[in-house]
Amino acid sequence: MRGVLLLALLPLLHCDRLAPAPAPAAQPAEAKVVKSEEEWRKLLTPAQFHILREHGTEPAFSGAYWDKHDRAVYVCAACGKRLFSSEQKFDSGTGWPSFWAPIAPGAVAPSEDTSYGMVRTEVHCPRCGGHLGHVFDDGPPPTGKRYCINSAAIAAVAP
Ligand SMILES: [Zn+2]
Repeated sequence: MRGVLLLALLPLLHCDRLAPAPAPAAQPAEAKVVKSEEEWRKLLTPAQFHILREHGTEPAFSGAYWDKHDRAVYVCAACGKRLFSSEQKFDSGTGWPSFWAPIAPGAVAPSEDTSYGMVRTEVHCPRCGGHLGHVFDDGPPPTGKRYCINSAAIAAVAP
């Protein structure tokens, strides 16, 4: 009798394991921006397209924002997502806009980049996938991170 009861309960236990409680969402899900390369090519300038869609890098000291120090929020040049703020911007001396953190945790997404025989951490826009730059471990306090970002990948807007 006890064996029969156990057998009857087994499917229930199994179901329970298949349906875990939903994990609490850290942030509300954000709709991704998905476009074909052809559509991006029409929307972006050639420099923006090269960096955002082809993982390019602008020459040092050439972009619009490496030497900009007034208050601003920097949004993704492709989709407008808020990525960085002047609050975390610092003068790295590298010739690229540099930040010790994004505007909020998870505002940019990292991935491994093994191009040019180096292992670097690339950062991209989590909404449209656009390439922004790289993050290095030689930044200032409090994070020790240096987000080295292409000016052409971002756009300064009023905070
Ligand atoms: Zn974007």
